[in-house]
Amino acid sequence: MVLITESTLRSMIKKGIPNPFIVREGDKLTPAAVDYLRDRRIPIQDMCLVKTGKTSAFSGESLQIPVGVSNRHIHLAAEDVSALFGEGYSLTQLRELSQPGQFAAKEQVSLVGPKGIIQHVRILGPAREETQVEISNTDGYQLGIYPPVRLSGSIEGTPGLTLVGPNGCVSLQKGVIVAKRHIHISDIDAQKYDLKHGDCLYLQTEGERPIIFTDVMVRVHPNYRLDFHIDMDEGNAAGLKTGDMVKLIGKNGVFFNRGGEGNRYSLDG
Ligand SMILES: [Zn+2]
Repeated sequence: MVLITESTLRSMIKKGIPNPFIVREGDKLTPAAVDYLRDRRIPIQDMCLVKTGKTSAFSGESLQIPVGVSNRHIHLAAEDVSALFGEGYSLTQLRELSQPGQFAAKEQVSLVGPKGIIQHVRILGPAREETQVEISNTDGYQLGIYPPVRLSGSIEGTPGLTLVGPNGCVSLQKGVIVAKRHIHISDIDAQKYDLKHGDCLYLQTEGERPIIFTDVMVRVHPNYRLDFHIDMDEGNAAGLKTGDMVKLIGKNGVFFNRGGEGNRYSLDG
């Protein structure tokens, strides 16, 4: 048996740490070594589990997750609804979204940036505490703004732009983000599939150009419905559309091994 510690890994830096990191039968990683690999986003491939077809402690039932591709959209604060559409105006529901209580509104506004304009951008309701504009990188090039990738609600230090509605304009000082990909899951499903709020997942697509999405954040709430949210750039690049399914194949730096055909994931195949 070989015990692989954090210092074993550090001593490998010069030659390069294998990615994924292969653990042979009988070898053991210390918890610090596991953390070390996870922090560097190096997945661990346990050959023992692959060979015996045993289920890893991290796995569980194979989870298929429906995809929701989000086009550019805006969440408005109540005062900005008034500024854009008039005092006392309330948004009109056009259709429900996958997450209970959320809806696409009939109302649209224009986004005005230093380099360009994008018209007819959908507003999502209900109104929120702070206005947030979610665009793709491609939209950013068109507008001439370069927002960071952030989780919804995290808008400190992000760029602003100008919103133009039928009744007025709003100049935002901040609030434009490229949404970080994430899944929504209820607390009951999260427990069933051994997932926690803040977990980081690997999701695999199927089809002609399969890819693995890394760094997919888990967001747990009793009202959430299982859904994998990506933006238009990510959806187009992966050939995914709303309603397609992706498969959970690992989390927090570790690929699950379930043994059997089609369950060995290699990054070079
Ligand atoms: Zn979402």
